[in-house]
Amino acid sequence: MNYESFFRSQIDLLKQEGRYRVFANLERHAGNFPVATFRDAGGREHDVTVWCSNDYLGMGQNPVVLGAMHAALDDCGAGAGGTRNISGTNHYHVLLERELADLHGKEAALLFTSGYVSNDATLGTIGKLLPNCVIFSDALNHNSMITGIRNSGAERHIFRHNDPADLERLLAQADPARPKLVAFESVYSMDGDIAPIHDLCDVADKYGAMTYLDEVHAVGMYGPRGGGVAERDDAMHRLTIIEGTLGKAFGVQGGYITGSAALVDCVRSFAPGFIFSTSPAPVLAAGALASIRYLKTHQGERDRHQERAATLKALLADAGLPVMPSVSHIVPVMVGDAKRCKRASDLLMERHNIYVQPINYPTVPRGAERLRFTPTPLHTDAMMAALVEALRDVWGALDLRLAA
Ligand SMILES: *Cc1c(COP(=O)(O)O)cnc(C)c1O
Repeated sequence: MNYESFFRSQIDLLKQEGRYRVFANLERHAGNFPVATFRDAGGREHDVTVWCSNDYLGMGQNPVVLGAMHAALDDCGAGAGGTRNISGTNHYHVLLERELADLHGKEAALLFTSGYVSNDATLGTIGKLLPNCVIFSDALNHNSMITGIRNSGAERHIFRHNDPADLERLLAQADPARPKLVAFESVYSMDGDIAPIHDLCDVADKYGAMTYLDEVHAVGMYGPRGGGVAERDDAMHRLTIIEGTLGKAFGVQGGYITGSAALVDCVRSFAPGFIFSTSPAPVLAAGALASIRYLKTHQGERDRHQERAATLKALLADAGLPVMPSVSHIVPVMVGDAKRCKRASDLLMERHNIYVQPINYPTVPRGAERLRFTPTPLHTDAMMAALVEALRDVWGALDLRLAA
């Protein structure tokens, strides 16, 4: 076989479909977010306004977080030096896990190298440990949850997105004696909709199922202490496991789960993705710890974040742009075609120094390609006005559909 030509043909296929991923080469500047220096393929550089960062609150440049990271770096050095079991448990990891358990009102927490690994490892391990387990998974769950559920080998059923009635239909058909787990997210990051947590828990309780909630796009941003939508909705105690990331609103890196002491101890003891990997650098744990503590007591970032998102949605709607209905901080604008979605993103960058990544299949279904904007507390009125004007220009240039 000609391996090289095989690999090239796979890439050509992606390019023909307009969904070959090109990474924007960005240099973020602490203190100047959401502005970054962009370097194009020819090495030319200019400043751009970043409109698609998951550093939702700008915590990646928060002075308290940076101060904690500088101190930990000077104190502990660069890396953790081992897996958690073999010399790699730093005091910062212990403090961080205590802080996370407290954030979600649980007995225990476990830190992973990323949110992706936390979902994959936890769902994979629990689904495998529980004898004859059945997992019920929301149709729009993130790839990391799907992968974990698949890796568990457990029987799985997909319920219609955010639909407690469909979940009940499936649960009612399952053998009452079998262990069950219902897995879903709070904020879905592509449409910006939010799960009916209480309703899903009601159904799960009725059929004796455990519940697993991914709060990756909500932690730091919702709830009076940043505990997520479950905290906002007073539902944290109803969830068996709450999972989150330290890489989005908390502005650093890493993932985690929280739950009962026994359950977390099981994942700690049986999950290969946790056991056999070097633990996160102490500097990351220290930064995340500072960020969580800061957001537990600072409501201003959350208020301004919601205000900025509402303002941008209103401005886009007023301009006749097809902004999708969203009840969260996510602001998706529909394009509905992979190539023109990519082209719109390119034109925004070339003509207007605005960076927003096109979202194409398989992240969203074909025909639902979109631009997904994430306004932060640091996006100003002037940036928003420039964005709306730029979008009007690009929509005209590409003859894209306006709002109905
Ligand atoms: C980003 C994301 C993850 C993975 O978190 P990382 O810390 O980035 O690995 C998990 N779940 C959802 C829903 C996500 O969007």
